[in-house]
Amino acid sequence: MAEPRIQSEILTIFKEQGLRIVERVQSTLQSNSLAAHNDNKSNYDITLSTKDQQHLVLPSIFFGLGLCVILLLFSLNPGLPLVQRQVNLGLGLGGLLYIVLAYFVVLQNFETGHPFFFILTIVCNTVIAGTLVLLQSHLPTGFLPLTITVLMVSCAVLMGRWTTYIFILLTYIVQAVFSLANLIPIQQNTALQIFAMAFVSVLITETVTITKSAIALQYHKLETLNKVAHSLASSLDISQVISLVSDAIQTTLDADTYYLGLLQNDSIRLEMLYDEGVFFPNTDISLENSLAGWVVTHRQPLLLRNVTDEARVNYGIKVSTIGQPKLSHSWMGVPLETGGRIFGIVAVASYKANKFDQSSLEMLQNFTQQAAMALDNATHHAEVEDQSRRDTLTGTLNHGTFLQVLEREVTDARISNQPVSLIMLDIDKFKEYNDHFGHLVGDQVLISICGTMRRYIKATDSIGRWGGEEFVIVLPRATGDQAILVANRIRRAIGEITLYSRDQKTIPAPTISQGIAIFPQDCNDSIALIDLADQRLYQAKERGRNQLEPETSIWPES
Ligand code: GH3
Ligand code: MG
Ligand code: MG
Repeated sequence: MAEPRIQSEILTIFKEQGLRIVERVQSTLQSNSLAAHNDNKSNYDITLSTKDQQHLVLPSIFFGLGLCVILLLFSLNPGLPLVQRQVNLGLGLGGLLYIVLAYFVVLQNFETGHPFFFILTIVCNTVIAGTLVLLQSHLPTGFLPLTITVLMVSCAVLMGRWTTYIFILLTYIVQAVFSLANLIPIQQNTALQIFAMAFVSVLITETVTITKSAIALQYHKLETLNKVAHSLASSLDISQVISLVSDAIQTTLDADTYYLGLLQNDSIRLEMLYDEGVFFPNTDISLENSLAGWVVTHRQPLLLRNVTDEARVNYGIKVSTIGQPKLSHSWMGVPLETGGRIFGIVAVASYKANKFDQSSLEMLQNFTQQAAMALDNATHHAEVEDQSRRDTLTGTLNHGTFLQVLEREVTDARISNQPVSLIMLDIDKFKEYNDHFGHLVGDQVLISICGTMRRYIKATDSIGRWGGEEFVIVLPRATGDQAILVANRIRRAIGEITLYSRDQKTIPAPTISQGIAIFPQDCNDSIALIDLADQRLYQAKERGRNQLEPETSIWPES
């Protein structure tokens, strides 16, 4: 069952920040999704760090050193002809020098990704292979293919697939040239040997490359998760948390669709829904007869490798589409919960069956858990931030915040060439209320009046407490006529408020006086607008209270 407190907290924050959050989430997601797609594209190019490559190449280094030692041992054999001993000695020492230079100097000090190393590797390896081919009759049996294999593996580890193939091709060419030039004997079974060697080359190179990519991809995923965890831990912004979840999914899981939903009374509101390259507007999923609903109500993760069958047979759920009009085949969902409170779900899906396994689910659980904590933090932070912007008694914007809002509205209006109306209102003879009925009743009157004002303004309008029993209302895009209409409605409605004294007796409803000023017809900036509305409010007071100034439109263009 859903826990009501956290739901209502999150929903209130979402509702109060309304469009702004949705817009911010959408725009962050759009820009992030592009980055993530670029990132996905570069998955193919992900390489291991130099340190990891040094580790991977170590077996080849030891093997190469071993081969050099064998050559040196051969050179010590007094039973061998002198030339052969000298060749073995020279190649053994040369080989040792090459390995030591390559591993301890070049690899430890330079990034191997530089094009210079691409050429250097090909040239050095081909020269070594060519020399060995030329001198193979002096070498121990089988030494040549073993050395070329070691060179090939280390080349595939350090330089990748294409450098290795170029090196192998060049070795074949060198061998062919030497054969044609009669520098080496043309052996029997050469075609078969070449074919076998080519086969082994491709096998080794591909295996090394694929293994390397798989390791690099895992590293990349872990690195991303680390970054996401780090960013989530320090994120106090709801829209940023949602976009981080989106980033994490795009980078670590091969999903066509994913969403983050927050629990409402009897449905799940998808605050972010991505499906095949498109972010969809917010939508609701029913708790009944839906996979997301199952995850949220059972508070358990769910992994379906073949959605349509498994959902119907195992969970009695008939799946339907959200986002793109086609059914997913793989699906997994994880509840968003923290401190024993559940408040939503993160789910991913693919149009291919068997796309996710236990390790993908664990990955999703990992960052969903962090996202849950981050959302909880962000929600509390947004609440506290919102409270700090408001007057504690009436919940209207405080003086400073109202000034900022007014300034922003005037700036926007200047750009969009729209009017902004400002109403300043003051409760008539409010001191008498306090004197007659006490301050607590006075406070209740202030709360009721603000509640009444809220009912007569739009969601885009804002009310501020200017001070004491004086309030200001900014009505973006409202003309003077419209402001007069709103002011009169508020005035009449306040006159009809039912108020009670401490002994629960009905007390007379207050009246209010209001001054109205319009941007740009009256003034050209927010401070002058406030000043004029204030002056007009006092004119209304002087005329006898419970009225507006101006009473009717004085603005020709409004
Ligand atoms: P006028 O028609 O000229 O505006 O008369 P008034 O009595 O409303 O004006 P005045 O400025 O003399 O008094 C305002 C009163 O509002 C005085 C102050 O005690 C009261 N007031 C200001 N803030 C609060 C509040 O938060 N709660 C209560 N109960 N009273 C407040
Ligand atoms: Mg007053
Ligand atoms: Mg006053």
